[in-house]
Amino acid sequence: MSRKRVFFFGDENTEGKTEMKEQLGGKGANLAEMANIGIPVPPGFTIDAPTCIEYFDKGEKLWDDLRDEIRKHLERLEKTMGKKFGDNEDPLLVSVRSGAKISMPGMMDTILNLGLNDDAVEGFAKVTDNKRLAWDSYRRFIQMFSDVAMGIEADKFEEKIEEMKQKKNYENDTDLTVDDLKELVKQFKEIYKEEKGEPFPQDPKEQLWDSIEAVFSSWNNNRAITYRNLNNIPHDLGTAVNVQAMVFGNTGENSGTGVAFTRDPSTGKNKFYGEFLPNAQGEDVVAGIRTPQPLNKDEEKEGQTSLEVYMPEIYKQLRKIQKKLENHYTDMQDFEFTIQDGELYLLQTRTGKRTAKAAVKMAVDMKEEGLIDKKTAVKRVDPDKLETLLHPMIDPKAEKEVLTEGLPASPGAAVGKVVFDSEEAYLKAEEEGEKVILVRLETSPEDIKGMAAAEGILTVRGGMTSHAAVVARGMGKCCVAGAGEINLDYETQEFEVDGKTIKKGDFITLDGSSGEVMKGKVPTIEPKIKGEFEKLMEWVEEYRELGVRTNADTAHDAELARNFGAEGIGLCRTEHMFFEGERIQAVREMILSNTEEERRKALKKIEPMQKDDFVEIFKAMDGLPVTVRLLDPPLHEFLPMEEEQQKEIAKDLDVDVEEIKDKVEALSEINPMLGHRGVRLGITYPEIYEMQARAIIRAACEVKDEGLDVIPEIMIPLVGTPEELDQMKVVVDDAAQKVFDQTKTKVDYKVGTMIEVPRATVVADEIAKTAEFFSFGTNDLTQMTYGFSRDDIGKFVNIYQKKNILENDPFQVLDQKGVGELVKMGLERGRKTKKDLKVGICGEHGGEPSSVKFCYNIGLDYVSCSPYRVPIARLSAAQAAIEKSE
Ligand code: PEP
Ligand code: MG
Repeated sequence: MSRKRVFFFGDENTEGKTEMKEQLGGKGANLAEMANIGIPVPPGFTIDAPTCIEYFDKGEKLWDDLRDEIRKHLERLEKTMGKKFGDNEDPLLVSVRSGAKISMPGMMDTILNLGLNDDAVEGFAKVTDNKRLAWDSYRRFIQMFSDVAMGIEADKFEEKIEEMKQKKNYENDTDLTVDDLKELVKQFKEIYKEEKGEPFPQDPKEQLWDSIEAVFSSWNNNRAITYRNLNNIPHDLGTAVNVQAMVFGNTGENSGTGVAFTRDPSTGKNKFYGEFLPNAQGEDVVAGIRTPQPLNKDEEKEGQTSLEVYMPEIYKQLRKIQKKLENHYTDMQDFEFTIQDGELYLLQTRTGKRTAKAAVKMAVDMKEEGLIDKKTAVKRVDPDKLETLLHPMIDPKAEKEVLTEGLPASPGAAVGKVVFDSEEAYLKAEEEGEKVILVRLETSPEDIKGMAAAEGILTVRGGMTSHAAVVARGMGKCCVAGAGEINLDYETQEFEVDGKTIKKGDFITLDGSSGEVMKGKVPTIEPKIKGEFEKLMEWVEEYRELGVRTNADTAHDAELARNFGAEGIGLCRTEHMFFEGERIQAVREMILSNTEEERRKALKKIEPMQKDDFVEIFKAMDGLPVTVRLLDPPLHEFLPMEEEQQKEIAKDLDVDVEEIKDKVEALSEINPMLGHRGVRLGITYPEIYEMQARAIIRAACEVKDEGLDVIPEIMIPLVGTPEELDQMKVVVDDAAQKVFDQTKTKVDYKVGTMIEVPRATVVADEIAKTAEFFSFGTNDLTQMTYGFSRDDIGKFVNIYQKKNILENDPFQVLDQKGVGELVKMGLERGRKTKKDLKVGICGEHGGEPSSVKFCYNIGLDYVSCSPYRVPIARLSAAQAAIEKSE
């Protein structure tokens, strides 16, 4: 016996339900479910999604058994409706719509008013006593059927409508008269004949078979494939097809159509929200031809009539449905309704999309109302969404003039003066204290300093993983990338867009959450964890087990992260401290030294400054652990690359410029990422690590003497052999001991290592003999495992994703199969040597939800991420713990 493929809904024996979403698609399952709980839906039937896959297997043709099954359900529909399909007096008209398990808005096809032909249109006009409705429905049907089912270009029909409107001097489609519509139907049928070489099909069954085939086939149209690729939706789900009796919202003044949300999707308030149009069809609302009216009386603006006033009975029914749907689905629903001659029908309901703010508010409110439990509330908020709540935001009430839109590459808002050069951005921001927006065609690693100093970054080229986008996200800095409409001229220092010219020094505002580029200063507001957000984060703490620390290099960032709930610093990169103010001069002196003695002299100048930085950071993190990593990048990064700068430094150091050039040359490397960096610097110049260790321990002693609680952890980068760590530990311990001897104060400190070279994961058991903690540096570990350069992946990652080689950018989402396996192995081997070895992760992945969950599940002690990602990591960790307990 063949399996059941078609499921009826809307009479007393509805065959589907919500739980069958996978099989019936979201729309089909929810229509059935609404029928089950007594909400009026126009009856119909759903051909299930697996049939779509069979349809492709069978060469994209409906087969006899399937047609029989559909025919039976059509007869049942006729019985339920008391009308016959193909009848000339009072025809049953249907819609044919797609509906996959995961909603893919607008990606697949829909055909309305199916069942009309030259005779039925007359009957339909008679029974509805509405010629305009009948002929308008017929012309819409011919248009949709020709386009969707037969692949005739939609523009051909639109042109005819435009011609007619021009000839008659009409402004809107609604001005078309019955005679106009009849004429259009004639012209449309001619187009059809010309294109297909046969007349427009008059047999409704034939129309139906063609339409069902078209909807199935639309699963594999280019739009749908691209959408699935972008949203990681599997290609083998298929779409269901819903055939449903038509209801008309445009039969007269007692009809209408609208969209409603059970709560406000933008604020999250528990308030019925939506819009409707009297005497209109669904497409009219979408097309925006007429301005919709509010549902609620208290939202009426001048000249508007709300549904509450216009149709009080229908409004009351909708309010009941609002409660029923929410109680049933225990989540906010977004639904479409049609009123036909005073009768209300729901055409669709689904879980409504919402802003981050609304998501948090709804989750907390629904828990407080008793609709969901606490665990569900914590699980319901998408951690990634929190980010938009944590950056300065454009004041939603502000007026703005949008110049253009690019990609929303890194969220937040930024206001500043336009600067086109990174060095200039740096100088303006750091020395003149100006707020600047760096505008570039695209950015490269050379722009980092300018990017870090700017309030926000705007690029003309590049995608979501372009250098600008990736770096900006890493910095938690607002960025709009790929704003391709901009014509940028570096020479004249201005850009032109939308006919307007913006010059260097002019103010612009960026919204990195929407991609908007605005003229002038648009007011922003600072975020805070308060209200429902605060409550949700309190609940998060009830479930979270995984520790969450932050990556912070300054006291400011440390404080920020602490306010967001960080439980320590997991990575303090010390190289940034080398760049600031006058220190860079001393750092360069140190690098350019020819002897150890000279080097030590230069290091002595840096030491007090480093120590002061650590004092500030330790103070900010009173009572919490602070992991400080010793110098990591290759030394040449600190040297001046440009001739002008080289001359300047030669003058300062009183040496010949050639000497500087030679040194820069000598230090440059073919593969700096794999070169003289990390612990290799400590091995070759132990005095550098010695100085840093001394500065850290001195600062710790000083802060301890002030009565604060310091927990320093000194971390050695890029270790690949146990010997490297052993030797560096001796250097650090000796330096510390000397400080203790001098200061007569003693602090407990630990010496540990980053695990970021693949070899380290293999020999982790040996490294753990010396290491007092591990921290996985998954940025470098990903780089060295894949062999993908961290700085160059932007050139090909998009293509790899398109070609299904990579699902994600592995520098953003931890590659659990490869890199993750190494992390697991390193962890297991390390803990084999030291059962209680503290192990964390401080690569970018520490703030990415799926990676955080992975870290929890394999048993890491903590993740460490940028300050703005701390709440995201906390929420992800709580969700992981809840999921594990279920
Ligand atoms: C890492 O490699 O993961 C890491 C945190 O260090 P960095 O990004 O500074 O190389
Ligand atoms: Mg690293």
